[in-house]
Amino acid sequence: MSSVRKPGKKAGARLPSEKSGPSPRARAGKRVPRVLIVAISRDLNGNQQVLPLAGGFLKSYADKQLGGRVEIRTLSLFGFNAGRALEFIDLWDPDIVAFSCYLWSSRRIEDICRRVKEKYPRKRIILGGPEATGRKADLLEKCGADALVLGEGEATFTELLARYLAGRDWKGTPGVLVRSGGAVHEGPPRPEIRDLDSIPSPFSDAPVVMGIRGGGKKFYTFETMRGCPNKCTFCVWTQLAAKKPRYFSDKRIAADLARIAANSPGSCVFVADSDMFLNHPRALRLAPVFRKIAEKNGCYFIFQTNLNHWTPELMRAWNHKCFDMNAGVNSVNPAVQKILGRSYPKSLVEKKLAEMRRCAPETKITMQIMFAAPGETFAAFCEAFDWAWRRPVSYLLFFHTQPLHGTLMRARAGELGIKYRQVPPYHIISTREAAAEEIKTEGLMVLFSTVWMYAPRPRAMYLALADGLYGGSLAAAFLAVWGGMKGAARRTALEAWERFNGGSDWFPDDFQLDLSHGYAPPGTRPFLKAANGALLAAYGRYLRRKKAGPAAYVISRP
Ligand code: SF4
Repeated sequence: MSSVRKPGKKAGARLPSEKSGPSPRARAGKRVPRVLIVAISRDLNGNQQVLPLAGGFLKSYADKQLGGRVEIRTLSLFGFNAGRALEFIDLWDPDIVAFSCYLWSSRRIEDICRRVKEKYPRKRIILGGPEATGRKADLLEKCGADALVLGEGEATFTELLARYLAGRDWKGTPGVLVRSGGAVHEGPPRPEIRDLDSIPSPFSDAPVVMGIRGGGKKFYTFETMRGCPNKCTFCVWTQLAAKKPRYFSDKRIAADLARIAANSPGSCVFVADSDMFLNHPRALRLAPVFRKIAEKNGCYFIFQTNLNHWTPELMRAWNHKCFDMNAGVNSVNPAVQKILGRSYPKSLVEKKLAEMRRCAPETKITMQIMFAAPGETFAAFCEAFDWAWRRPVSYLLFFHTQPLHGTLMRARAGELGIKYRQVPPYHIISTREAAAEEIKTEGLMVLFSTVWMYAPRPRAMYLALADGLYGGSLAAAFLAVWGGMKGAARRTALEAWERFNGGSDWFPDDFQLDLSHGYAPPGTRPFLKAANGALLAAYGRYLRRKKAGPAAYVISRP
């Protein structure tokens, strides 16, 4: 029997099953130190729960290195149900609590850490993850945590546990910031793990390692590689010394995918690599491996890539209805690209999208574009918005630009004239080129167009308005509808914008992802109603005027 008594069955949390049991040492009556790794996830796409991967890697690596000398458990909290972490800490009484910190979870983690330290001052707290690596001492202090792991976590986390077991000081541990005696001490840098296969697979015993029960569709995070050779100024990868790509072996990938498929057929797998397709021979070798799982087990795969380097051969190999390529275009505006550290002509993006449609007609394409980007005027964004919606892609994702901690963009924020929110997700409020009001309008344009473009009737009305009155410009059609909205409906839309603009843990891309897959995120019905009502009214006016004859209405751009 597990030594963890489970709280009453409520939605929103998952602990390893009882089968994991205590270690042999614990069974012999000696209590081994307990370590709880906590991840707070978001719910996406029809309420599928995104299963975190980092905690699984940490546990499987530390278990292998330390044998049964510590008992490590992972706890995944869903739906931002962070308060339950305290409940589990009370029940299981771990000696060390570790948190994976992301943009969407760090505010809640700060709160949990403070409460844990208040109630249990002797418990140790370790922070890790991209937000921890970026914020460093700031997050360590705000959380009142004991240690913060910089960059890749497995080896560093394991060494912290080994030192704890040996009664050794954490100060001086490579890759760690330690808070002690009123000061923060940084250890020397730690090299990355060269052989990724040396990290045992968390999928080999997913119910125990990651608390994943079999059956039912799930939303997995998966890695086939680490590192990125590119230098985008908005990306945290550039801060890590991990530029040289490192790979899991083909054999390991095939085995892990087979386990996922057997455990939960029909699941969605998000491949969190920088770009799995950069190495063409490897990508060609892996295509049949993924295809087999998609065909046999109905799994759906989401990848991150830049289509600009794709060849027709690669496109044909990855042609499948269960593959979704998230193409990180970000911007086709040369002034913006220069700031982002990217450079390619718009014509190349257009050529590759068309080629992909021809060579891989089954494959879904999700094009990612930024809004509120430094270097872009409001008029230039409207042009990019119109261009993007007319591309032959399956989905569009507009990301609110964020100068993340540790990025070059954040370091250059003053010089670039960027103002941004001081709290996660650090959305840009204004730039030298676009005032705060204009950026808010860009955000509203993204939210409204998402409501209208993914439902057949509103989409037809919106396109008809744009084509009939505004020379095909969807941006101009939105501005006209928005300009005509008044009173309660307008207030509802502004509230929705506030919510997705960093006023909560929901971001504009969550809203877009959910709606594009036919799922309305909780609490968004009033906004959907207001947006659709405004479109219907504008479309009705357009039809009446059209019926009255061309002389009765004026074609103008707002
Ligand atoms: S945005 Fe993508 S391509 Fe650019 S540095 Fe980051 S991971 Fe690499």
